[in-house]
Amino acid sequence: MTHLSAGKIGELKSGFKGEILLPGDGGYEGARRIWNAMIDRRPAVIARCTSTQDVVQGVNFARENGLLLAVRGGGHNIAGNAMCDDGFVIDLSRMKAVRVDPAYRRATIEGGGTLADLDAATQAHGLATPTGINSTTGIAGLTLGGGFGWLSRKFGMTIDNLESAEVVTASGEVVRASATEHPDLFWALKGGSGNFGVVTRFEFRLHPVGPELLSGLIVYPISKAKSVLQQYREFIAKAPDELSVWTVLRHAPPLPFLPESVHGKAIVALALIYAGDPKKGESLIEPLRSFGTPLGEHVGVQPYVAWQQVFDPLLAFGARNYWKSHNFSTLADGLFDAVIEYIGTLPSPQCEIFFGAIGGATTRPPTESAAYPHRDALFVMNVHGRWDDPADDKRCIGWARDFFKASAPYATGGVYVNFLTADEADRVRSAYGSNYDRLVQVKRKYDPGNLFRMNQNISPG
Ligand SMILES: Cc1cc2nc3c(=O)[nH]c(=O)nc-3n(C[C@H](O)[C@H](O)[C@H](O)COP(=O)(O)OP(=O)(O)OC[C@H]3O[C@@H](n4cnc5c(N)ncnc54)[C@H](O)[C@@H]3O)c2cc1C
Repeated sequence: MTHLSAGKIGELKSGFKGEILLPGDGGYEGARRIWNAMIDRRPAVIARCTSTQDVVQGVNFARENGLLLAVRGGGHNIAGNAMCDDGFVIDLSRMKAVRVDPAYRRATIEGGGTLADLDAATQAHGLATPTGINSTTGIAGLTLGGGFGWLSRKFGMTIDNLESAEVVTASGEVVRASATEHPDLFWALKGGSGNFGVVTRFEFRLHPVGPELLSGLIVYPISKAKSVLQQYREFIAKAPDELSVWTVLRHAPPLPFLPESVHGKAIVALALIYAGDPKKGESLIEPLRSFGTPLGEHVGVQPYVAWQQVFDPLLAFGARNYWKSHNFSTLADGLFDAVIEYIGTLPSPQCEIFFGAIGGATTRPPTESAAYPHRDALFVMNVHGRWDDPADDKRCIGWARDFFKASAPYATGGVYVNFLTADEADRVRSAYGSNYDRLVQVKRKYDPGNLFRMNQNISPG
């Protein structure tokens, strides 16, 4: 275990406005817990920052004392890099402030804010920027990997809406990165994940959204999954950017709009949102109801913030999780056969396979416009292996890996950096794709000593 003298800790505490948590301190055990319960790490110090100056102090302390450094935003990342054993954690969970300028259509949010924090503040003005589908996710990790969700077909990736960022670099300097200030760093932040510094503040462009939108679920039996998926493929190819429809295959949760006899049985669900006038959306989604005979549906006009939280109960903190992911530019019949076969052997009621349809505005910027390289991805598949009992680890992980292999022949070879698990170092280059070499150049300039290496790492070489 790293030994830091009382003198060193005293030095750290002086001038630090937030909280310094050491093993044994009340609050330490809670602070080291993150979303994925598979991650059980014990840092030497958790520094709960409350200001950019605290972050500067933390970065300098870790660098000067040769400590392994991790950065915790929302703590959601499946790979668990928000925590480290025996090192120093910059914990941003107290830095969540959001400011909205409705006239200028801009929002700033601190580096520890969640999607829920941002949505609540922006939707108060009928504005939003595209983020992800689980409101407890951190805006920092999501944005730094690219970020996509229900509004992305219309407004692009989260990074496509990033206007500027305040960054504490490895040398402890505070810089503003934008198209005109440190443009190389700004480019790298837009998909290069946590490699370049601690982002203490993000500034986003906003768009008029809702606040009430048409959204909901239409559920079909697994016995009709192949036909439903084939019709879905044709439908989404022609859908306007305003309409997002994702597919989820899993065991039905006990949702009140489904007959009790269906609860716990395999289903295919279409999750939809129309980011425009609900009346127009109603006629556009009508064909989704005739892919067969639905088991049930729950579709209506509801607040956008409510839809942003609708999957939260299925994705709560504290379960064991192991994910595998592929990008697809088309959905092949062979892929549908493989999915249906593996849904037949789901190893736990919480496991699921989903296809997030992006496309639309996410595909239009050139590949080199930002570090995120997957402008060819029309669908992002995520195999959510999820369970509670450690005794099930091997079985559930094995299932996710086997399906990942079975679906690989149909995939682009690219992978979303934010869905990589801890054991996928061999896929890191595929995550950064053709932008990897340029990312290495920026890494050499801003973090030549690789202080920020608890991430999907870009080695400065
Ligand atoms: C249930 C669930 C649903 C998800 N849904 C979506 C989705 O719809 N769309 C999508 O795009 N992604 C989605 N994701 C993936 C998500 O974007 C990543 O897990 C992301 O890394 C989470 O960010 P975080 O800040 O919560 O994570 P953390 O674990 O806190 O951080 C992840 C990494 O980002 C870096 N980091 C964090 N904060 C900072 C900072 N302020 N400055 C610099 N580096 C930092 C660090 O390297 C850290 O290891 C989902 C994840 C989960 C668990």
